[in-house]
Amino acid sequence: MPSHYDVLILGAGMAGLSCARRLQDAGKKVLVLEKARGLGGRMACRRTEKGTWDHGAQYFTASDRDFAAQVAAWQQAGSVAEWQGKIQAWDGQRFSTPSAIQRWVGVPGMNAPLHALAGGIEILFDVKITGLEAIDGGWQVLAGEQSWQASQVVLSTPAEQVGPLLPAGHALATLAASCQMEPCWALLIHSARPIALPFDCLFINQGPLSWLARNSSKPGRGSEENWVAHASPEWSRQHLELTPDKACAMLSRAFGDLFHDMPVDGLPVFKLLQMSAHRWRFASGALPVADLPYALSNDGLALAGDWLAGGKVEGAYRSGVALAAALLV
Ligand SMILES: Cc1cc2nc3c(=O)[nH]c(=O)nc-3n(C[C@H](O)[C@H](O)[C@H](O)COP(=O)(O)OP(=O)(O)OC[C@H]3O[C@@H](n4cnc5c(N)ncnc54)[C@H](O)[C@@H]3O)c2cc1C
Repeated sequence: MPSHYDVLILGAGMAGLSCARRLQDAGKKVLVLEKARGLGGRMACRRTEKGTWDHGAQYFTASDRDFAAQVAAWQQAGSVAEWQGKIQAWDGQRFSTPSAIQRWVGVPGMNAPLHALAGGIEILFDVKITGLEAIDGGWQVLAGEQSWQASQVVLSTPAEQVGPLLPAGHALATLAASCQMEPCWALLIHSARPIALPFDCLFINQGPLSWLARNSSKPGRGSEENWVAHASPEWSRQHLELTPDKACAMLSRAFGDLFHDMPVDGLPVFKLLQMSAHRWRFASGALPVADLPYALSNDGLALAGDWLAGGKVEGAYRSGVALAAALLV
């Protein structure tokens, strides 16, 4: 007989865990099911013997009052800090300085606030949900031979991963299908010695790359000289099906080309670099902002995620928390 929960939550990213935290604190019996081997979703970190990389979300803002209060609590607990790296923008000809806003990062990696949220919550990793079936009084969630039952199920996956899990023609599947998400190829760079560029992070408004950041300029990352570059949505879409090796080769070239016209000293020495590539198939995208940052149907199924709340880490948190409040009514 499968175990029965009040709420099953699919996905251990910011939306799923912020929802789970509120529900469990209110006394609900909650289980989170996550297909990856660890917490984070798009806030995950890569760790090797060469150090760490935040290869998904780079930082987050906290413009919403509730989220700002949560960020302050995380900061107090040491799992979040302000990133004060030198930020520049590059248009192919000149540098400019973007507007000054507070940029927050998890410490020691972007997924640290998710570890803070997850304390004491039952989470099963390496569980890829393949479908949901309606049962008497709720839902059965399936992953191969395994199954779990609950009165309510929250799907907190990126929009494009919702449809295949839901019964054909379900209204929530139709909603999710209306949100198109963009991919992002990430290049993870390790240099055997410091690269003395005059910025720690760079918005790039021209060419295949759109972002470059010195990971080690973020608090708590250690001294390894690790950088992350992101390809633009256009480039990532056009090269979506490349192998990681091929994407790595092309993006490494783009990384080198970036410096041709740049008036900088201290360029990377390419023979001292090690690089690899990671594809985020569903990196970003959101529906136009609606009154409610979640979707709840009266059969016990619900959706949360950044894509329902304007995108970004902040939106994912807002979505998860608002959905939890609605489920507790
Ligand atoms: C390259 C990149 C750069 C970004 N930069 C920024 C930034 O600088 N600032 C910012 O605020 N935001 C940024 N973002 C966006 C930010 O990461 C997201 O808005 C936020 O993390 C989304 O959280 P979420 O919980 O909604 O979704 P996710 O983090 O995607 O969580 C969904 C979870 O569901 C799991 N899942 C999916 N399918 C299944 C299944 N079938 N069974 C079980 N589990 C499943 C996934 O593994 C994942 O863990 C970036 C994202 C990327 C990819």
